[in-house]
Amino acid sequence: MDRLVSFTLDFEDLRTDPSVQEERVVLVTDRILGKLRERGIRGTFFCVGELAEQHPALMRRIVADGHELGVHGYQHIPNDLLGPERFRSDNEKAKAILSDIAGAEVVLYRAPQYSLVPSTPWIPEILTELGFIASSSVLPAHSPLYGWPGAPTTPFRWPSGLIELPSPVTKLGPMTFPFLGGTYLRLLPSAIRKRGVRSSDPASVLWTYCHPWEFDPDEKFYVYEHGGWLVSRIGWLNRRGMLKRVLNALEPQAGLPLGEIVASLGDVPLFDPFGTDQQLASGQK
Ligand SMILES: [Zn+2]
Repeated sequence: MDRLVSFTLDFEDLRTDPSVQEERVVLVTDRILGKLRERGIRGTFFCVGELAEQHPALMRRIVADGHELGVHGYQHIPNDLLGPERFRSDNEKAKAILSDIAGAEVVLYRAPQYSLVPSTPWIPEILTELGFIASSSVLPAHSPLYGWPGAPTTPFRWPSGLIELPSPVTKLGPMTFPFLGGTYLRLLPSAIRKRGVRSSDPASVLWTYCHPWEFDPDEKFYVYEHGGWLVSRIGWLNRRGMLKRVLNALEPQAGLPLGEIVASLGDVPLFDPFGTDQQLASGQK
């Protein structure tokens, strides 16, 4: 049986100087929404809270099309740069904004740039305290930006109870990488994507991740704030082909939105890299 791939998008705008760089995120997101509507695909939109606040009409169109909302920070800042206090207040604010738009409590979270890593161990507990149920924020591989090599590649539970759906990865020679989204999906031959899906662990949850800017060949080049020149250049490659690649990855039929998958998961193994469970049991914390 074919393994199904779910659609997820990180709704963000990476412009560094909005006073001179044209805003294109609404135009491009509407284009994506139209294609998904044509094909009857529902997915999960992880939204930067501040951006959602600025575009309520677009957000209402996303919800009206049956997509789920999740939080992608209040601003698009990697979590190690935020620290625990600001992480808490930012995501509490973003959750309230998005829950208001969705008309229901938003309980899904995705870290900017997969910045749930060994140096940010406080994230799962804070998310649970804020009422989040699931996260898709761990890249279980080495990465030039943020990754957690050795983390499980199938759904797991943090000691706080939060469910994690790790980013789908595949191996090619010595490399392990997130083949279903971003640069990898945009640039690598589709044979690698197909092989990755075929050889995936049946217990893994497969989802494609992408960003509005990746679908926009006409955006003028600039250097990303948390990227540097080379990463930014790579971000402009093959944007013209991205929509087709994402839609192909969702054939023959898209998987369910992530929240619906989490609701049907049942029990998943505990991942406790810091021994938090034992500390809780013995009263230390
Ligand atoms: Zn992002």
